Amino acid sequence: MKVPLSSGPLGRGLAAAFLLAAARPAFAEADPPAPAFSTAYMDPAVSPRVDFAHYAAGAWYRTTAIPADKSSWGSFNELELRNCFLIRHVLEDAAANPGAPGSLPQQVGDFYASAMDTAAIDAAGLQPLAPDFARIAAVGSVDELIRVVARLHTRLVPPPYNPSGAGAGVSTPLFSRGVQPDQKRSDTYILSLGQGGLGLPTRDYYFDPALEKTRAAYLAHMATLLALAGEPEAAARADAATALAVETDLAGISKTPVELRDPIANYHKMSIAALAAASPGLPVQTYFAAIGYPADGGDIVVRQPEFFAGLGRLLQSRPLGDWKTYLRWRALSDAAPYLARPFEEESFRFNGTGLNGVPAMEPRWQRAERVLNAQISQAVGRLYVDRYFPPAVQARLADLVANIEAAMRAHLEQADWMSAPTRERALAKFARFRALIGFPPHWRDYTGLEIRCDRYFENLDRAGAFEVRRQFGLIGRKVDRDDFGLPPQIVNAYFQSNANQVVFLAGILQPPFFDPARDDAVNYGGIGTVIGHEITHGFDDRGRLYDADGNLQDWWTPADAAAFKARAQQVIDEFNRFEALPGLPVNGQLTLSENIADLGGVAVAYDALEHSLAGKPRPPAIDGLTPEQRFFLAFAQLWRTKFRDDALRRQVLSNEHAPGQFRAIGPLVNLPQFYAAFGIEPGDPMWRPPEQRAKIW
Ligand SMILES: [Zn+2]
Repeated sequence: MKVPLSSGPLGRGLAAAFLLAAARPAFAEADPPAPAFSTAYMDPAVSPRVDFAHYAAGAWYRTTAIPADKSSWGSFNELELRNCFLIRHVLEDAAANPGAPGSLPQQVGDFYASAMDTAAIDAAGLQPLAPDFARIAAVGSVDELIRVVARLHTRLVPPPYNPSGAGAGVSTPLFSRGVQPDQKRSDTYILSLGQGGLGLPTRDYYFDPALEKTRAAYLAHMATLLALAGEPEAAARADAATALAVETDLAGISKTPVELRDPIANYHKMSIAALAAASPGLPVQTYFAAIGYPADGGDIVVRQPEFFAGLGRLLQSRPLGDWKTYLRWRALSDAAPYLARPFEEESFRFNGTGLNGVPAMEPRWQRAERVLNAQISQAVGRLYVDRYFPPAVQARLADLVANIEAAMRAHLEQADWMSAPTRERALAKFARFRALIGFPPHWRDYTGLEIRCDRYFENLDRAGAFEVRRQFGLIGRKVDRDDFGLPPQIVNAYFQSNANQVVFLAGILQPPFFDPARDDAVNYGGIGTVIGHEITHGFDDRGRLYDADGNLQDWWTPADAAAFKARAQQVIDEFNRFEALPGLPVNGQLTLSENIADLGGVAVAYDALEHSLAGKPRPPAIDGLTPEQRFFLAFAQLWRTKFRDDALRRQVLSNEHAPGQFRAIGPLVNLPQFYAAFGIEPGDPMWRPPEQRAKIW
């Protein structure tokens, strides 16, 4: 069945609301202007048939320098920076008028004030870590060691250097843990354990010969930080070597980022007794008693059982003293960005400059803001949404989502490479799709979280522990499908496979993604392709393995699965051909889901645009460009990105998203509609012969 598309123009009605949202600044610097689609970014000297990315944004590439305190720069970052200023108004106003003790403005305002109180932070020195160091020093057995690990696991801190701001990282000495919907019983929360314990981005950083220099820099950083913490220099160097050796052992039993992508291979539901039996040497029961796991808590998910078996062996074979050194290092490294200035600076020197090539730290208020976004995400988010998210945006987005959904449904109906039974199941799953827009239908409750205006590290620690208690309280309970997995105030969107739902955060529903002042073509090429991207995730190489209820369960016939994989292989091959740095190609396998989502996202957003134009007088060209041309230009401009080399290397080695500059054209060269819009012909550098073009959805 085909559902009629609604096709209201996007261009009217919301501009006023956005203008009203620009509040008076409480500080001297003016908010940066909102980024926007601009023909001034184009390079008319470049032919779209030769190099579309530079035709679309060549002038921008030529004239833009990455700010000294950023690892990469593009339209996302421009909006993020502007959004940082908006959030800053929220934080500064709360700090100036905190209101009643325990109220949201008090928690937010005092947390921010404590983060900005560098005199108090510097005066405290290493003191906030003294209790942890004392506990680690007193450890006399592996059993006691695991009890300290369990205690550190009740702490949540953002990762050092956290430019994406994408939620809380975790302090994960030895291994990681989390509470999520059960992949095979998606209506219930379950505790899962996974590999972890590393200080470098992935296991390959410990072994890849090309990363020898990074390892040497890491070792020097470890020694410097340990010395700052009071160890004599020789002892600090020896302890750094020991901690690195322990991390290298953990890396040796860890999976690669590509191996971690497989949801089936990384799902093993078992009892605690079974984990204990499979991991001799690891005091499993001690750990669960220490974290207060309920006696009737039931089974858990162990993502990588072989890691825990290996960890048990390592705990028995390495001297206890090595593990104590490792734990001291991890506690110090996790806390350093939030301690006195010398610790924070040394942490940045490696994690910011060493790993990402960033010369300068962001201003303190931006660093503080990232911490609050991570630690009390929905407290900040609620104040932000009240102030900056115009209610009308939800309704306009819902219309747009409906249009893109209709286009996606048509694509599923027309995918003739699938047999009828698989297509029926795909459509049945799609019928259950749900979109959440802007902010959660109900907010998390922060009642009882004590925040003081003068204790930054304690605030951070208490907020992290509060969040861990919230998560542990969910174990065994029914999943709340209204909750958000990311802070609503950040620039992002995501697909939740267990809930079969897409979430568009308030932070991304602004120009240049959603720009009510612009023509439909630019908005379909912007937020439209983002909506299409997230929807397509439900049918990417991983999303397709979840059924209509969000359970990990293969509903494909073997022949249809084989046909899907053959098409996906073309996407892998295409991205493997992009060279990010000399000798470092993009990893088509690691980035497969995202590239499938980009490809589907552009294709369905384009069809939704065409459907909205059908049966009406053709809109006049704007700046000499047709709606179709503006659609593809808006898309390519959205992904214009510059990277520092180190950050680019890290992105390619560890991130499931290909660098933006490749996403700008990667999907387009597969689309005949793109060729038609710009007259691209055989022999043109942008031309791909039909047999090389990927088409999945
Ligand atoms: Zn994605």
